[in-house]
Amino acid sequence: MTHTQKAAEVPALFTLTTGPVNCYPEVLSALGKPVLYDYDPAFMALYERVMKKLGKALRAPDVPIVLQGEPVLGLEAAAHSLVAPDDKVLNLASGVYGAGYGEWLKPRAESFHEIRTSYNDAIDPKAVEAFLAQNPDTAVVAICHHDTPSGTINPIQEIGQIVQKHGALYVVDSVSAWAGVEVDIEACCIDVLVTGPNKCLGCPPALSILTVSEKAWAKMEANPTAPRASILSILDWKDAWKASEGFPFTPSVSEIYGLEAGVDRYLEEGPEAVWARHAKTAEAMRAGVKAMELDLWAAREEIASPTCTTIKLPEGVDETELRNKMKEQYGVVISSGRAETFNKLVRVGHMGPTAYPLYSILALTALGGALSEIMNKPMDIGAAVAAAEAVIRG
Ligand SMILES: *Cc1c(COP(=O)(O)O)cnc(C)c1O
Repeated sequence: MTHTQKAAEVPALFTLTTGPVNCYPEVLSALGKPVLYDYDPAFMALYERVMKKLGKALRAPDVPIVLQGEPVLGLEAAAHSLVAPDDKVLNLASGVYGAGYGEWLKPRAESFHEIRTSYNDAIDPKAVEAFLAQNPDTAVVAICHHDTPSGTINPIQEIGQIVQKHGALYVVDSVSAWAGVEVDIEACCIDVLVTGPNKCLGCPPALSILTVSEKAWAKMEANPTAPRASILSILDWKDAWKASEGFPFTPSVSEIYGLEAGVDRYLEEGPEAVWARHAKTAEAMRAGVKAMELDLWAAREEIASPTCTTIKLPEGVDETELRNKMKEQYGVVISSGRAETFNKLVRVGHMGPTAYPLYSILALTALGGALSEIMNKPMDIGAAVAAAEAVIRG
């Protein structure tokens, strides 16, 4: 029997992935409620209530937009809606998602430019400043906040202030950071924030969440190629949050129930407390990784994500074998790399329901145990656990 076949049969006890994540119990039970007719006034009122609460969770100046598909829909919709055929655009790529965004921007713009870094590093704000000083006619700048396949964080606030100074619109993919890390939309000068409930909010993958600034609405409204009467349309949903308006098409009723439960939990616990336990979990994880003499993927610890820890694969270790062993022997499921980072690293998610520091000890034990066997060399799991526990104790 191959590893893959065997692994598929063994249910995981702990899903410590970088998304989708397992859901909070209150989200799972909300998903099971009776499905209301979308034009039932009860559902229309519920939809308005959920959008307003979501706005509170986002600390957004306006009511957010929800598109009815997992966050890739929101990301693609933002590119289609904002970029006009005569635009100059700048894409900032420090990883797989950042670079992927360029593929949506490029065909829509008159001229496409990109600043890239190696995939274990972050975008340098000085490079953005230099580009925009030379290209003051740039209309749109896009960045990925936390490039998940690398587990690295970009300085979105410093860059946002530069983008605003030069008058361009700023699009930020914060799918895997928002609700696990502070995202101050106004201080970061974000015109379109795209995120989702399926990472740090602990809901299933099915919705996109967007905030849109006044400037961004004006740009979309003036853009002749912005989608309308389309699954990719953001404009169609502008007023749909109001109980007095209709929906462009049927919203994902059950997912909206789940979203409300996730938002309620986030607001009741308090965003600051939620961010703190994400940060603490990642800090404990990094301490354990270093104590076991493994290497972090991030070039510098300051840019290591609080919602995901990426660990370099030791020489000669096959990542699929490692992850399968962790699942079979320990019941722990972690994430692989993606595209350029595949088979170079493994990733442990600290998102929503798994952003509790003790999960770092589970991950370290399974990782150390599986590596000891594969490399035929004992890893110091005791040192890793002690280092993580020291961080937890504070
Ligand atoms: C998860 C994620 C998305 C959504 O994409 P999927 O891979 O389809 O879930 C988009 N951007 C980032 C940075 C993500 O982590």
